[in-house]
Amino acid sequence: MNVKQILESLGLDKHPRVVLGRDPGSGYAMTENPATGEPLAWVKLDDAAAYEKEAAGAVESFKAWREVPAPVRGQVVRAIGDALRAKRDALGALVSLEVGKILAEGVGEVQESIDIADFAVGLSRQLYGMTMPSERRRHRIQETWHPLGPIGVITAFNFPNAVWAWNAMVAAVCGDTILWKPSLMATLTAIATNSIAAQVAESMGHPGVFRLVIGTDDVVGHRLVADKRVPLISATGSCRMGKAVGAAVAQRIGRTLLELGGNNAVIVEPSADLDLALRAITFSAVGTAGQRCTTTRRMIVHESIADAFVARLAAAYRTIKIGDPLAEGTLVGPLVNARAVEGYHHAVAEAIKQGGTLVCGGKAAKPAGLAGHFVEPTIIRAPASNRLPISDDETFAPILYVFTYKDLDDAIAMNNRVEQGLSSAILTNDVRSMERFIGPAGTDCGLAYVNLATSGAEIGGAFGGEKETGGGRESGSDSWKAYMRRQTATINGGRELSLAQGIRFE
Ligand code: NAD
Repeated sequence: MNVKQILESLGLDKHPRVVLGRDPGSGYAMTENPATGEPLAWVKLDDAAAYEKEAAGAVESFKAWREVPAPVRGQVVRAIGDALRAKRDALGALVSLEVGKILAEGVGEVQESIDIADFAVGLSRQLYGMTMPSERRRHRIQETWHPLGPIGVITAFNFPNAVWAWNAMVAAVCGDTILWKPSLMATLTAIATNSIAAQVAESMGHPGVFRLVIGTDDVVGHRLVADKRVPLISATGSCRMGKAVGAAVAQRIGRTLLELGGNNAVIVEPSADLDLALRAITFSAVGTAGQRCTTTRRMIVHESIADAFVARLAAAYRTIKIGDPLAEGTLVGPLVNARAVEGYHHAVAEAIKQGGTLVCGGKAAKPAGLAGHFVEPTIIRAPASNRLPISDDETFAPILYVFTYKDLDDAIAMNNRVEQGLSSAILTNDVRSMERFIGPAGTDCGLAYVNLATSGAEIGGAFGGEKETGGGRESGSDSWKAYMRRQTATINGGRELSLAQGIRFE
């Protein structure tokens, strides 16, 4: 599909807030094709009044939606999943076009949204509460989970479809309405995705459940975060954003679900299957051009195998095809914009200044006929001291820093020494090492992988990280509880008034 076909197949060429082919001036934001550096479209921004209309609408729609039985809400989500299935390839291509991930990953992202819709349909019949024995005769206590309210969903550019779905599909079966503020770098994907969900829900008699507010952080982002009508802000993005959003929501004693930056390491043991390790680490470090929150950014490899393994990895890196993300055979597309390329060059230069050795990569890449934001996947070895301060930061680019270790406990300490705590992995065939790594004195991250690298989570588990990654959990398992309010009801089924703790009040 070419650009025109992709936009047309999703109705974006006729969408009232999308302008193609000319800059309409102020009040619009340009969304760029990162592979070419050219504008894809201009998207109308919401002002304060437009935000107010959507926020007030989300409150009104919630009043009806919360009383729709949860399994009926599940049927709406099932239909949204089917609509996403029907549009999967076009939507996946739009993700590739707008944020530059290769087509297989763009389509895979939409598949993830379909998977979470399926999960949420089942969940709609399993929003279980508990009952517990009362200490009083003929009394009982029950916990019930009720819908929470309009949920604010703030998303990062790099998963412009799936992160919304993790939140929206689950929140919708929980009885919440969704007010989505996407990244300004991925507005077309947001418009196409939200239109699909909103149209399905409306056609089934539930208008206004899925809402979109597009605007600058100053006008829309800060309003949403400060809005007392929105009891939960689920925000995905950088640690810097999470610190600002977390503090602002805490000011009004609202709830947050924070999914922030990662700085993920793999430990490679001498016992590991090194062929498997090579493939797993290459995908995880280089895939999505290093722009996943779970990208492998640090490799901690046993000193006895380090030289040979790094040489093999570098040889694999040199075979990777960089180019048009929509073309078959491409493994690495562009970074999202020129600022990301600057961040990459800065990190490479700093690492070398700090004593690192460039093993491969380190430069802008220039695939034929494309003037976009391409860089070479890069490996940098830390000095013998194992200190490389730049590696403590998350640089959103395909840079892998290599450290060596002698003793597994030292490797685990290196894994844990950064501020972020999202994902981690060990490649080993030693069962004791595995147990140590995933045990209470092991990795401090929310996600731990064994004989895999750090990216590629499935939707069934709770997803999220500790420390500056924010502590939130989304997607599978019991993450749904974040989107509901718990009520503990004590019911007296007898004729007597008896007080708890045996208190007499005659
Ligand atoms: P970003 O922090 O620049 O922006 C993320 C979103 O937050 C955008 O929609 C932005 O407009 C909004 N935002 C920023 N400041 C805000 C404020 N003060 N108030 C309200 N909204 C605000 O991140 P990005 O560059 O789009 O994405 C990359 C980052 O996201 C990386 O750090 C990556 O690790 C992280 N990420 C984390 C996860 C996860 O699940 N942990 C998933 C994807 C991306």
